[in-house]
Parts: sequence; structure tokens; C-alpha cells
Amino acid sequence: RDASAYRGRYAPSPTGPLHAGSLLAALGSWVMARQAHGDWAIRIEDVDRLREVAGAAQGQLATLQAFGLQHDGPVLVQSTRDARYAAVIDDLLARGHAFVCHCSRADLAATNGRHLGVCRAGGTRIDPAIRLLVEPGTTVEFVDAIRGPQTQRVDVEVGDFVLRRADGFWAYQLAVVVDDGDQGITDVVRGADLLDSTARQILLQRMLGFPTPRYAHLPLLLDVDGRKLSKSAHAVPVDACDPMPALHAVWHALGQSKIDADAPSMFLERAIQDFEIARVPTHDIAIAASHNTAV
Ligand code: GLU
Repeated sequence: RDASAYRGRYAPSPTGPLHAGSLLAALGSWVMARQAHGDWAIRIEDVDRLREVAGAAQGQLATLQAFGLQHDGPVLVQSTRDARYAAVIDDLLARGHAFVCHCSRADLAATNGRHLGVCRAGGTRIDPAIRLLVEPGTTVEFVDAIRGPQTQRVDVEVGDFVLRRADGFWAYQLAVVVDDGDQGITDVVRGADLLDSTARQILLQRMLGFPTPRYAHLPLLLDVDGRKLSKSAHAVPVDACDPMPALHAVWHALGQSKIDADAPSMFLERAIQDFEIARVPTHDIAIAASHNTAV
């Protein structure tokens, strides 16, 4: 690929309306892409049909539009990609990098949820999961553009991880890697709750022959009780009819200096000029109750 090309993305799960934390990730990834004269794609991560809320994806797209965050290219929807994910898993199974896992929840609970390789040789459960085989001594290192150097011993800290769940759904780790690869994403900018997933994703990229993107993990917004704002736990949605208060609030949470603007278009133009990654906090942030009170 063109060494100077930048292609970022925002990948919401359609589990509820966007809240201030979602907007922070959207704005942060958008502004970094635009500052680099890059593209910015949107992907709807609806592999987990049990957590999906009807109409949420359309609502999220309308909200991004109202905030002036325009995307490039078609929106990729993960639920249209079953055949692609199945082919990737078949390839990993055929090459011996993945295996069918017959462990029950009770088996896994005995080892704190970590898979210790007992069933790599096969078993009898009717609805098996499929896991990536993580070789002993697998260490992944990367440098996060905000959080600095990171190291994970994936075999010890995570173990063999799920690619297809026993209930038949594709795992987030699989879908995100295949989609970032197929969409040619060069820069993943997202919430710091996913910092811990990054080593797994890099490992999978290597096994599938995808280049590893650059990573930048943005601060998480916490509610008054110190919990991550969550779409499925009813964090207050951002107001698409009145975007400026939320834009100013998340820009402040990103550590950036105040922008005098009273319309999204003017605000975003200034944001592209002013954004400084060095100012982004490397820790989570509690935000004002008006943006996070549970409804
Ligand atoms: N779909 C994930 C979420 O809504 C984001 C995944 C990602 O950015 O890699 O939290």
C-alpha cells in the first residue's frame, strides 16, 4: 500500500444510541484521519445479534451526520460477511492454527475462563466453539501512539481465544481483524477499553497475512460511579438536535484547547487545525453528570 495513505475508521456496535464516550472515539478517529488528509470509514459491528438493538445502527449514522462527521465509502456491515469469516476460519483450521473446542462454561470457570489447551485434540460437545491456538511463548509488542510501548504474553495472559462462539456468532476479535484488513485500515483509533485486545488482533493479523495498522487508544469516559459509559447500560445519548455542548465537552476530555465556534462545521474545521495528539490524556476521565446520568 501507499506508505503515505491514511485510512481510519469508526466501528460502533449497534447496542444503543451514541453517548459522549462514543462521540469521543468518533471525533478522535475522525480528526486524526482528516489531519492526515486520510479517509475515514464507518463499520457497523453487529456480529453479536443478542446485544443488537433494533434501529440503533440507523440512529448512530444519523447522529454522526448531525455532528458533521462525514465518512468515506460505503458503510461495512458485519452481518453481511458470514461467508468471508467462515472462509477465514476454515483456512486457520486447515493450517492447524485453530481448533474446535468442546469445553463447557463449567470447564472454563474452573480455570478463571482461560482455556488451557485440554481439548485441542477434539471432543464431543454438539455446539463447539472455535479457538485460535496460541503457541507457548507468544509475546506481542507494539507502540500505542497515546499510551506508549505495550507488551502482552498472549499465551499466559489470554490463552487460546475464541474465533467463533459456541452459540454460532463470530467473535469480535475475528471480525475486527478481517474487516480492518479487508478495508485497508492503516490507523485504528478507538477507546482504551480495547487496548487489551490489541495484542490478540496483531497475532491474528500475522496469521492471516494482514499488515498491522498503527494504534492509538483514546481515554474512556467514566460515569459518576467510575464505570465506563456504555450504550447498552443506558448512558445519556448525545443530542443530535444540539451538537455543540457535546462537541465542546468531548474536545475538552481529549485534552484539547477550547475552540470558539457555535456550529459543527466551523468547530470541525478548527479541530483539524488545532488537534494535538500529545495533549490527549493517557488515563480515563470522569465527566460531568449532565452527560452521563443514567436514564
Ligand atoms: N465495536 C466496538 C465498540 O463499539 C469497537 C471496536 C473497535 O473499534 O475495534 O466498542
